[in-house]
Amino acid sequence: MSTQNSSAENSTTSLVNNVDELVINWHITEACNYNCCYCFAKWGKPNELHCSLPEIETFLDNLSEYFIKGSPPLKNELGYESVRLNFAGGEPMMLGSTFFIALMLAKQKGFKTSIITNGHYLINGHLDLPKNVLDMVGISFDSQYLSTRKKIGRVDRKGNSLSVEDLKTALGNLVSTQKGIKTKINTVVNIHNCDEDFSELITVLKPYKWKVLQAMPYGDDELLISRKKFDNFVAAHSGMGLPIFAESNSTMTESYLMIDPKGRFYQNSSKGAGYEYSEGINLCGVENALAQIEFNPIAFSSRYRKVDVDVDVVES
Ligand code: SF4
Repeated sequence: MSTQNSSAENSTTSLVNNVDELVINWHITEACNYNCCYCFAKWGKPNELHCSLPEIETFLDNLSEYFIKGSPPLKNELGYESVRLNFAGGEPMMLGSTFFIALMLAKQKGFKTSIITNGHYLINGHLDLPKNVLDMVGISFDSQYLSTRKKIGRVDRKGNSLSVEDLKTALGNLVSTQKGIKTKINTVVNIHNCDEDFSELITVLKPYKWKVLQAMPYGDDELLISRKKFDNFVAAHSGMGLPIFAESNSTMTESYLMIDPKGRFYQNSSKGAGYEYSEGINLCGVENALAQIEFNPIAFSSRYRKVDVDVDVVES
């Protein structure tokens, strides 16, 4: 897959690895029905793009024109053939029919689509997900025990939480309504679940991927575990044929092309803590917005490759 080139004048090109798919993570909302202690999906005042359907359509047109129909530097550098729009949050499914419309529009405009969800509304939603609008789903699931999910905060205000049975039902429904969907389970390993055995559950569920992540130091530091504990968790689930993909803190670099709920690109600030934001993509266009966060396709592509193209965000 990678393009090796030994000539000096092409040394820039040699830094870049080709990938099949570009993933754009759109944090469509900050709202969430759960309250996980480690959650880093926290923004300021809600003034979110999804409040206006015309704004959503313009936004998707802008992204499609630039990344799919256009020839941006990133396309030349990475050689991607498709673009997947990954809806993250907060909890995207809290937006109900607005979210479904955004998904359908994204499909119409040529994107592959995916969602990172806590799964709650796959079981408790008032509306059914339309057929064949999702190519991939990542369901966050941190514990088979309600008591542990409560400690983590993975419950709503009424104390409801996605159970093992709910998870099985949700995955079964998705497989039957979304043709060819790839299913992922995301588990954030923290102080409350690091000794839990998931092997039987993952064997039964047979997801395409089980992504396990070390809790990041964004929220409640009391949930954090050492690298050694994380490695022990991974080792305890290895050698059993499980589709486990582990990301420790050190590999979870800012390898994502990220858009916030207001429709702005953002990235970690080069000046230290916090984020840097572009203007709204609908205000200034994709190219200008990318330039405002000093986006560097070459640096991006090398980080992109490092995490093996699995660059969806995982909160929810
Ligand atoms: S981690 Fe996900 S489910 Fe938990 S509060 Fe954050 S967005 Fe909601």
